[in-house]
This record gives sequence, C-alpha cells and structure tokens, in this order.
Amino acid sequence: MALAEEEWGAVIIQAEPLRDLVAEIFAAAGCSAEESARVARYLVESNLTGHESHGVIRVPRYIHWLREGKVRPGQSIEIITENAVLAVVDGCLGFGQTIGEQAVRLGIDKVAASGVSVIALRNSGHLGRIGDWAEMAAAAGVIALHFVNTTGIGLLVAPFGGIERRMSTNPVAIGVPMADGPPLMLDCATSIVAEGKILNAMSGGNPLPEGALIDADGTPSTDPALIYGSTETTQPLDLRGGRGAIRAMGEHKGSGLAFMCEVLAGALTGSGCAREDVDCLANAMLSVYLDPKTFDVAGFLGPELERYVRYFKSAKPMTPGGEVLCPGEVEHRNRVDRLAHGVPLPDATWRDILETARDVGFDQPRIDRALDAAQ
Ligand code: NAD
Repeated sequence: MALAEEEWGAVIIQAEPLRDLVAEIFAAAGCSAEESARVARYLVESNLTGHESHGVIRVPRYIHWLREGKVRPGQSIEIITENAVLAVVDGCLGFGQTIGEQAVRLGIDKVAASGVSVIALRNSGHLGRIGDWAEMAAAAGVIALHFVNTTGIGLLVAPFGGIERRMSTNPVAIGVPMADGPPLMLDCATSIVAEGKILNAMSGGNPLPEGALIDADGTPSTDPALIYGSTETTQPLDLRGGRGAIRAMGEHKGSGLAFMCEVLAGALTGSGCAREDVDCLANAMLSVYLDPKTFDVAGFLGPELERYVRYFKSAKPMTPGGEVLCPGEVEHRNRVDRLAHGVPLPDATWRDILETARDVGFDQPRIDRALDAAQ
C-alpha cells in the first residue's frame, strides 16, 4: 500500500529508533533477530558517520535481494585454505554485515600470533561501509588495510581514458588506531562517487560533484539517469539501466588503484574481477592486518603519529576560515553530531523505508510509531 503524501516529508530520527525500525524490517522479512540487529546497526552506523550512501537507504535493495535469493540469511564464512597468518574464506553470499564481521574477527585473531595476517574474502554479500571493518580492527588495536571489488551488478565505473563500465566503485580503507581518540581512517571509493551517493542525490541528498559521471559519448555529467536509466527514485533501481558510467577518481592514478582492487580483491581471493554475466552483487575484500606492538618495539609510533597529525593539520588553509582534516575526522565529527541531534534522512529514503516496512507486513500502528519517532 502506498503511503499518503502527508506521511512523507523530511525527517530527523534518533539512531536508536531507526535501528529498531530497520532491525524489525529484516526480522519480518525472515532474518534471525541477531542478524537483523547486526544489519541494522551497521546501516545506521553509516548514516551516523555521514555516509548516507551506505546506510538505511539500502534497506529496500537488501530486502529485494533477500527475496530474490541474491543475498542469503544466516550464513557463516567457509574456510577454503588457511595457515597461521592467512586464510582464504568464502562468504557464501551471506549478508556482508555478518560475513564481514566474521572475516575481520578471523584476521584480528590471527594477527595476535604473528603480528601480521591476511584474509582473502570472496563471495560476500554487500559489505557496506568498508570503514566499519577498519574501525573494528582499530578497536582491537590493529592497523588494517582493505581492498574491495564487486562482481556482477556493481559494474559501474569507466577506467581512465575509457567511456564504458569496466570496474566497480572498488573502495579502499586504511585504519590506524590512536592511543587517545578515534582512529585515523581513510575510507573511500576509487570512483569520484560511490554508487549510493548517486542514489542519495536522486533522493534529495547532496548533489553530485561536477563531472562525476560520463555519458556514452564521453561527455562529463551529473545526470543519475546515466546510471539507472531513469531518475525515478522508487527502489529497487536497475544499476544496469543507464548508458553511462561513474568516472574513476584522480584520473589515471585513481583508475590504476581501482584496477589493483580488481586484482587483489577480485582475482586473488577467487571471487572474480568485474564482469557482465553475473546477476547478483558479490563483494570481495583482501584485508591486511598489522599489529603495531609487534612492529614498534621502541614505542615510536604513537608519539610520532601525534606529532605528525599536529604538523599535517597546521598547514595554512586554502580558504580563510578553512581547516585541514585528517582521514576519518569528518566521520568522527558527524557521529558525535548525529548521535546528539539525530540522523537526517531525505524524504524519498524515509518513504522507501516505510514502504518496505509495509511490504514486509508492518501494520499501521507500527508505521505510526515510526512516524512518531521522526521529526
Ligand atoms: P568520500 O568521498 O566521502 O570520502 C571519504 C574519505 O575522505 C574518508 O576517509 C574521509 O575521512 C575523507 N574526507 C572526507 N572529507 C574530507 C575533508 N574535507 N578533508 C580530508 N578528508 C576528508 O567517500 P566515498 O568515496 O563516497 O565512499 C563512501 C563510502 O562508500 C565509504 O564508506 C566506502 O567504504 C563505501 N563504499 C562501499 C562499497 C562496497 O562495495 N561495499 C563501494 C564503494 C564505496
């Protein structure tokens, strides 16, 4: 049943009721209570850090994939091969929030023994915000490097010098724990924008930067129809519907880094590089874990990082009143702000979540409670 116009509107909702709502949607769709809560926690965390692209905007798509059997509930990683420092594991197309957590846990457990570990994860459901995994390692005092690719319907990005899709948005994340305060955290797609940012822009969120996309004739553009074939926001959208592509970030250098994600995450893990003939989305992730205590026997790292962060940030700002930020600072500030003031959601995102809730069987009193929780 469609929502009435007056039920739409821009909303701000606190993290907790949003988590509850999302968890109940997944539970109603057939996931266990534990997995539903986990998926909800990671999605809302992405909104809290400011990455709407990988947050609750994904709920309709995840539920659609669940129904189509393109993501499987209740999965665990399967060990393909393993030794003291490395493991190749298969995610069996389980929810990335479940599979990612298990794969990172294995990497953290292994790093304790030898100071270094490598986990090659293949065939995971969507791993969401990759910074989650680097943050999980950082919380255990471990440095982590993650290289990710997507097989199947995530084929979206044109390589430098090309105008046809040959890669996914291939994120890279690097997290470094700090003694006092949040970790240093680089976490970004290797395309100018992540696909979810296009979805978010179409749903009324931040507009796309100039030239983020490219038309089939090579013209730079910001038109989301080039990706989805239309600008109709109602989900699920067809990622293969448009004739254009997202552009790789940083010209030839970003394109080269994205290519290496295909090599490390796609080929080396056994998941597969970007290709056209796969009808679901599988993420793969090559993760390297380093225990700073094993490397840094003299206690140099902590003070040196503190000194360097101060020095880095002391650069004269380009614009008056501007500020130089370290990787991860924006996300930390967003989290503090949104935990205090609530999570803003574009109209269309809120509408799509409530439509999905109705679709999985929510009754009107439960929808009303969700509406009451939102301002
Ligand atoms: P983005 O362009 O917002 O870049 C984020 C990075 O830039 C962060 O490290 C952030 O701290 C840093 N940053 C942001 N503003 C800054 C500033 N003013 N000064 C200094 N540093 C700054 O992110 P994105 O590329 O759009 O990626 C968004 C999310 O999408 C990420 O969490 C990524 O992991 C995720 N993603 C996932 C997949 C997948 O397949 N699962 C694919 C692509 C992207």
